[in-house]
Amino acid sequence: MSLTNEQLLAVLDQSKTATAIYTTEDIVIESANKAMLAFWDRDNSIIGLSLDVALPEIKNQPFMDMLRKVFTTGIDDIGEAIRADLVVDGRLQTFYFDYEYRAIRNPAGEVYCIIHTAVDVTERELAKIELTRVRAMENAQKKALMESEDRFRALVTSTSDMIYSMSADLYIMYQLDGRGFLSDTTEPIDDWISKYIHPDDQEKVKTAAQKAFRNKEMFELEHRVLQADGKIGWTQSRAVPILNDQGEIMEWFGAASDVTNRKMEEERKSDFIGMVSHELKTPLTSLSAYLQMLQGKSKMDKDTFTLGALDQSVKQVRRMTTMINGFLNVSRLESSKINIDRSRFDMAGLVEESEAEAIPMFSSHQLVFAPVEETYVNADRDKISQVINNLISNAVKYSKQGSMINIACITVNGSAQVSVRDKGIGIKQEEISRLFERYYRVEGSQHIAGFGIGLYLCCEIIKRHEGKIWAESELGCGSTFYFSLPVVA
Ligand code: ADP
Repeated sequence: MSLTNEQLLAVLDQSKTATAIYTTEDIVIESANKAMLAFWDRDNSIIGLSLDVALPEIKNQPFMDMLRKVFTTGIDDIGEAIRADLVVDGRLQTFYFDYEYRAIRNPAGEVYCIIHTAVDVTERELAKIELTRVRAMENAQKKALMESEDRFRALVTSTSDMIYSMSADLYIMYQLDGRGFLSDTTEPIDDWISKYIHPDDQEKVKTAAQKAFRNKEMFELEHRVLQADGKIGWTQSRAVPILNDQGEIMEWFGAASDVTNRKMEEERKSDFIGMVSHELKTPLTSLSAYLQMLQGKSKMDKDTFTLGALDQSVKQVRRMTTMINGFLNVSRLESSKINIDRSRFDMAGLVEESEAEAIPMFSSHQLVFAPVEETYVNADRDKISQVINNLISNAVKYSKQGSMINIACITVNGSAQVSVRDKGIGIKQEEISRLFERYYRVEGSQHIAGFGIGLYLCCEIIKRHEGKIWAESELGCGSTFYFSLPVVA
């Protein structure tokens, strides 16, 4: 039994495979089953129309040409995942189809129709495209990471510093030396410290590391190291903690720079200063003695002119002595030869002594000592006296004649706090933190004699007492310098 055309078309209509039949070079739709009409989102009314009339949106797409070619050449066109932009649900949407255009010939061998079957593979294709996009993104990220690693390595290679990383619980994880070599060491920091740090500095490094770890702050220290050749070098170590969103330390990143040459240079300089100051002291002491003798003689002779000149000379010699003592103290500090000789005393008593000394010496200014309250400390009385006198003489030096200087001594939160307030030239905010550095002088104060060691010495003395020293200031309005020491019963 053979099927009639109508029967064939009815079977076709039931088929799940989307099928259409086209005739003539104009690609007239002879028939299209339900599945194909559903792909196109059109109804039966398009039967008998040219495909590009039924689906005007395909005008600039390749289908008409492809179908015409099949018609004229008789060669089937079979392909996968071709893109078709079709108006479905009222808007142009992109689909992908596996398709077959099969040329059907009559017994004379002429093509009289094309059977078009299609399978919608849009979901599979979109998933593939998404996968490709994700892969491309991952590759781009990988590439960026590799580039960033390359840059990091180049940075490490170009620096002479040693770079290292530590885990949150202070295990050294790896070190990168100046040539970018990575050594995976994973050893506890304490072992590492005992291997590489000079025995005398090990405790200092441990304490500083623990403090940074506790406070989650940058670790920064200069210390001696044992070099591979057995020599002792100096290193400046810095490490910053990397915190997670919860504020916990995840890792430390650190760098160690070799500062041996700078340290040696500083040592030579301070040795030289120490030596010169020491040598200058002897002639200065005898000069002072001769001046005193001459003062006595001029007094007897009632030679007022010489007496006046000698008074000035004595003042200058005293200034010079203070300066030289300052240098000597710096050089002693550097070689750790400064001893802190503690005793229990009332800070108020010491401030009153300074008052007795300062009022006649600085008659150019109004010195007000108030409030001065009893507060006991355990400290080196002479050295603390030196700090107070230094702060007063700075206040005098950096403020106008006749202006007021206020000195106070009180107890605040379990500390004896001494403050010296002036109404002088003041200091810029950004320079305040640097005042206590050795040889640091504020720009513009060059016309006032000084070497920038007074505050450095004060700071070192107070630090050795576990105290605090700081300044508050406003440019043009004046400054207040404070220090505080723990109170004892
Ligand atoms: P010096 O006074 O010998 O330069 P110091 O170490 O005592 O050294 O002080 C460092 C710098 O701090 C000074 O050069 C000055 O610029 C600034 N300074 C110190 N005390 C005061 C003050 N009371 N008012 C303004 N500037 C001050």
